[in-house]
Parts: sequence; C-alpha cells; structure tokens
Amino acid sequence: MSRLSTEIQKRRTFGIISHPDAGKTTLTEKLLLFGGAIQMAGTVKSRKSDRHATSDWMAIEKERGISVTSSVMKFHYRDFDVNLLDTPGHKDFSEDTYRVLTAVDSAMMVIDSAKGVEAQTEKLMEVCRMRNTPIITFINKLDREGMDPLDIMADIENKLQVECVPMTWPIGMGKRFRGVYDRYRRQIQLFTAGKAMRGDEKGILINDLNDPRLDEILGSQADELRAELELLEASSPLEREEFLKGSQTPVFFGSAINNFGVRELLDAFVEMAPAPGPRETVQRMVEPAEEDFSGFVFKIQANMDPAHRDRIAFLRICSGTFTRGMKVRHHRIGKDVTISNATIFMAQDRTGVEEAFPGDIIGLHNHGTIKIGDTFTAKELLQFTGIPNFAPEIFQKVVLRDPLRSKQLQKGLLQLSEEGAVQVFRPLMGNEIILGAVGVLQFDVTMARLKNEYNVDAIYQPAQYFTARWIDGEKKQLAEFEKKLRANLFHDAEDHLTYLAPNKWNLDYVMEQWPDIHFLKTREHG
Ligand code: GDP
Repeated sequence: MSRLSTEIQKRRTFGIISHPDAGKTTLTEKLLLFGGAIQMAGTVKSRKSDRHATSDWMAIEKERGISVTSSVMKFHYRDFDVNLLDTPGHKDFSEDTYRVLTAVDSAMMVIDSAKGVEAQTEKLMEVCRMRNTPIITFINKLDREGMDPLDIMADIENKLQVECVPMTWPIGMGKRFRGVYDRYRRQIQLFTAGKAMRGDEKGILINDLNDPRLDEILGSQADELRAELELLEASSPLEREEFLKGSQTPVFFGSAINNFGVRELLDAFVEMAPAPGPRETVQRMVEPAEEDFSGFVFKIQANMDPAHRDRIAFLRICSGTFTRGMKVRHHRIGKDVTISNATIFMAQDRTGVEEAFPGDIIGLHNHGTIKIGDTFTAKELLQFTGIPNFAPEIFQKVVLRDPLRSKQLQKGLLQLSEEGAVQVFRPLMGNEIILGAVGVLQFDVTMARLKNEYNVDAIYQPAQYFTARWIDGEKKQLAEFEKKLRANLFHDAEDHLTYLAPNKWNLDYVMEQWPDIHFLKTREHG
C-alpha cells in the first residue's frame, strides 16, 4: 500500500451530536484521555466553565480565542489518527455546528438515558441524514435512573429513523446499575459506584448465559439480564453495510463521568467507523487516494483581537497530501496561493508535522478572501458540494443608528454572511434588512464585528419569522409566486430568492398552495 493509502486508512474524522447536558463534554474528555491528549482535556473544561457567562464582547473574544484550538481535537488511539471536530452546543450553538457535520465521515450520538432523543439531537441528525453519515450511539448516565433501555431504543428508532443494534446491554440502572454485558465479546464489565474506570480492566468472560457464575456475580439480576438478552435475540444483527449508509446504529451503554463503557465505545468506533471516503464535486467524484491535493472550507473563524484581524478558514482535506509551503489554487477567485502559514492541527505527541492527509483539517490564515464552501486543489478545477447554508430559525431586523453608514453596513453584512457568521435577507419590497441564524450567539458576534471591523452602529429589533425556505421552480411558476407572495420574499446574500414564513401554519399552507414550487431547507454555495 502506498504511504497515502496507509495514512487514509488509519484516519477517523468525526463529530459528536447531542443535546446540551447529555454529556458531550464529559465524553470528549474521556476520549481525549484515552488518546493521551491530556492537556486538551483541560482545554475542554476551561471552555466549559465559562459557558454561562454573558455573551458580551469579552466573553465572545475569550471563548473564540480558546475555541480555535478546540475546534479540531486530534489524538492517536491504537493505530489510528483521530480527528474530533467540535460541534458547539449550548449558547454557542450556531450554523457552524451544522456545517461541521458536512466535514466528518462519521458521528457519535450521545443520549441522556433519562431524556431519550432531544430537540438538538434531532436537528443534528437531520444534517447527518443529508450524507447518510454513519452514527455510533452512546447512551449515557446509566448510573442514574432513566428510561427503560428498550424504550430509549424505540424512541431513537421512531424519532431518528435509524435501527438500533445494541452492542452492549446494561445490567440494571441507577442504584441497581451493575455494569454492561458485551453481546459480541460475551463479557461482563462490572461497575463499581463512584469508582472511575481506568479503561484497561478485563471483563469477565461468560460464554454460556446459563453459567451459574452469572448468578453468583449478579444475584437476582442474572435472570433479568437473561430474559432481556433473549428478547434482543429476535432483533437484527449489525450489518456493516447498513451501518455505513446510516440505516443501522450500533448502541453502547455506559456512564461517561465514570469512564464506564467509554473504552468499548472508542474501540468499536475506530474499528467500525469509515476512513475518509470519496467526496462529490460538481465535476466528478474525488477519491481520497488521488495524488493531487484537494479540500473545502467548512468554517471560518475571525480573530476578535482588533490588532490581528485575520481569519482562520478551516479546510477539510479530501484527497492527496498537503505539505507546508505548497502552492494551491483557490478556484472561486482563480488565484494560486502558497500556503506557508497554515495551522496543521496535530496530535500532542508529534511535533513539527509538515504534512496532512485526507480527513485532516488545516487552518488557513486569510484576510477575508475565503468564503464558506470554497474549494482548493493542486490544479484541476473542482467545486465540492454538500457544504450548504441551513435554513435559519431565529431572525432579527437590523436598524442603523447612523443612516449615513448604510454602505458600510451592507459591506459588513455581505462579508459576515460569506464567512457563515450570519445570513442576510433583503426584502423584495421595502429596505429593511433581516438577519437569520440558528443560534443566538451569532447575532451577538455579528453586532460586535459590525461595530469593530466596519465601524457600524446598529441595533436589533424583533422580526417575527419562524423559518426560511429557499425557493426554486419553473420560470413561469416562479414569476407568479413572486408576484403573489412578494411581501414575504427576500433575496439572500447571493441573491437567491427566499421565503420567510411568519409561522409554521403559514409555511405549510403556502407549500400546499404552491405544489410546483420547491421550498428548500438548505442552499448550496456558488
Ligand atoms: P454537555 O452539555 O453535553 O457537554 O454535557 P456535560 O458533559 O457538561 O455533562 C452535563 C452534566 O451531566 C454534567 O453535570 C456532568 O457531570 C453530568 N454527567 C455527564 N456524564 C454523566 C454520567 O455518566 N452520569 C451522571 N450521573 N452524570 C453525568
């Protein structure tokens, strides 16, 4: 195998999808500890501790300063090079969270056993669905009373349309939680309340469930376990193909805070999750093992320090080998750029890395020339697809305090929308500007940046919209639609026609009235 193929085969690039408080941060820390990235684990914590701080200028700056390093957490585990891309939740939930999922090859879903599937997880799963991303499920907090495991799986199957295949099975829960039974290795891993696992504990092999040792170890819970495992026998086994296309998810039970069940999860993850695969472009499919370098930008982060106004564009490598100092073509602006000061995110124990491979993320410094969705290649003209804008869910009207700054406002908003900070909608009628986002922090960041980078003094006013849909259709129909629904139609930053619905009822009604018009939840760039 060539060096490039070897590097590809050992890479795993993933994100964690969960609802706030399900245990994503706790699990991330444990995963990083297994990977030996101990300092990084501290980073996760320090970032977490100020997550409830008010989102004033300083807090944003501080948070962003730290989150540049935690946007990509890279670690080694066994023979694998793992890239964990942060999917910001809580108050820093934003369109970036969605877009990060367009740059991963698999995802880990964390579910709180007491809550089942929650709203944010549903939204993030919708994004994973777009590319049929394979999902590994971790059901967390078994040390607490929660829902019946069968009910949790039924909830996942109903709400997320993915078949659950339990790889481990919990023995009791809450006060009666004794551990998990590994259905494939036929082992019991015992849990001791209040004692965190090191992760290298040997399980107890139970080849035959009728073995009386099971009763010795578990007492009356042995028969409960037998009965539950028998029920599971009727369900389908895990098929790799079904997992890889996102229609089955292997399920693990545990307790992140006690580091219980995490090693099993990580082992299964590196063994089962796919290495970087082919990616679609407008022109053709790109294979990771192609010699020529290619990649796309999925996230842009501005430096909030006014003395250093550069931005970091996060680029996911899709093919070839990246070497520092390499010349690549930035297709949208048709320019060759030499990338000398790229940030190559690397594992803690390797210094001086000068190369990166498919699945890796590099950070390109720039002064506002790079947009979300931009493709960089060695030479061939390519445009990667599948890095869209997502329909905003919250809206604000921008009102300038000084009307003479209107030009600067327009310029600032265009730039900010190109960087994916916020979405901008200009009405077909009238001239008020509506901003759309999926997380409230996006508005705070936008306002702070307008003020600091464009010297624009503006305020927000409430805008009563529920969601946006990009509009497409046949020319005549479109003209008719435009005429009738002018009052709710807008152009986005790239001049695409967008319908802003005041409420769900209105959206459903309009969609019903106009069956030939397409109402799209995402819009591709370019
Ligand atoms: P995030 O918001 O998804 O990142 O969740 P955190 O990792 O911050 O966890 C939310 C809360 O749940 C914290 O108070 C954690 O200590 C707690 N937590 C995480 N994992 C477990 C677990 O396995 N058992 C229990 N009882 N609590 C947990």
